[in-house]
Amino acid sequence: MPVPFPLLPGSLIDGRPVMLGVLGGGQLGRMFVHAAQSLGYETVVLDPDRASPAGRISHHFIEADYRDPDALRELAARALAVTTEFENVPAEALAVLAATRPVSPAADAVAIAQDRIREKAHFVRCAATSGVAPAPHAVIETAADLDAVDAALLPGILKTARLGYDGKGQARVTTRDELAAAWARMGGVACVLEQMLPLAFECSVIVARGRDGQVVSLPVQRNLHRAGILSVTEVYEENVPPALATQAQQATINIANELDYVGVLCVEYFVLQDGRLVVNEMAPRPHNSGHYTVDACDSSQFDLQVRTLAGLPLPQPRQHSAAIMLNLLGDLWFDPAGAPRALPWAEVLALPGAHLHLYGKTEARRGRKMGHLTFTGPDAARVRDRATRAAALLGMEAF
Ligand code: ATP
Ligand code: MG
Repeated sequence: MPVPFPLLPGSLIDGRPVMLGVLGGGQLGRMFVHAAQSLGYETVVLDPDRASPAGRISHHFIEADYRDPDALRELAARALAVTTEFENVPAEALAVLAATRPVSPAADAVAIAQDRIREKAHFVRCAATSGVAPAPHAVIETAADLDAVDAALLPGILKTARLGYDGKGQARVTTRDELAAAWARMGGVACVLEQMLPLAFECSVIVARGRDGQVVSLPVQRNLHRAGILSVTEVYEENVPPALATQAQQATINIANELDYVGVLCVEYFVLQDGRLVVNEMAPRPHNSGHYTVDACDSSQFDLQVRTLAGLPLPQPRQHSAAIMLNLLGDLWFDPAGAPRALPWAEVLALPGAHLHLYGKTEARRGRKMGHLTFTGPDAARVRDRATRAAALLGMEAF
């Protein structure tokens, strides 16, 4: 039976409350579940980890590998529509689910985002319309490709085509010998070599696109990465020059349209020292740089994910407060000697406009995303002041 969109909150279909499914039980899935549940939907999460952040709060939890056919069948039987929160979720799993249930984003859009070679090719195609191109790059799949690399791409960054995240699967190289050694260390897998660009700063844009092609955009996020991991996101008026913000939003909408994308999509950009905008990569899901939307916008990126999945209307979201998000990595849970330490939450939460989100992960590890802390306020000066004080209290490097 075709699924009757829109899946209205609180309605019964075949005598059952509407249940929405998510493949992946990490923090993004957890915040999707929060948003779905607050609208009145039931949820089902599939994740291999019994203690997964989303699995622990969902109505139903299926503990299984993403490829397990029985588990995928159970997910499709319970959920009327399914989304994903995990970039490296096997695209085949989405394709299997799509045979019986509406799935968004679609497996083919996820497959493009999972493969830097296909992703870059998509960006090059879109640049013809938007004027925003990716970094100069070369695809390296064979030793011959390696030999043919244009010297102008060095110094550069070698990135594996698949399964990279948070700066993993990357090597910075300055000479041909270093490039060859780095490619060998990566096991000779398919890679992209990108020219190292002189960055002024980084930003990202999140859009949501419905089944009918309607698309809405969130404000441009200005992002600070440290050691390849997002550390701080700042969103308020003039966080980036307005002309650049418009260009980035239009380029992102174009990228989503050209994929015929359904769901929430985040595209990351570099702003070069000469002011040019360069497209870096995309995530076919809500993004760490959009977590501030939960507290600072009238529709969060997770609300938008629920709406696109359920086929609900997509009014243009509005940011009502200036915001700064601090990413809370597991490193903060240890003192300089490496001993576990308690964090000063009472002092942090005494600051006005503090919104703490901990993901319920039982074990802190270095580099692990344990939670985030968003400050909202009436203007940039005040949120900067409070976020700076919180960073100092938490032992985070100043930004
Ligand atoms: P993510 O967690 O965002 O998926 P990732 O591991 O896929 O990260 P990228 O976003 O490609 O990696 O790169 C990580 C960071 O490395 C970027 O945010 C940027 O700071 C830096 N970087 C990547 N490519 C370049 C480049 N061509 N020139 C300069 N800096 C770069
Ligand atoms: Mg990135």
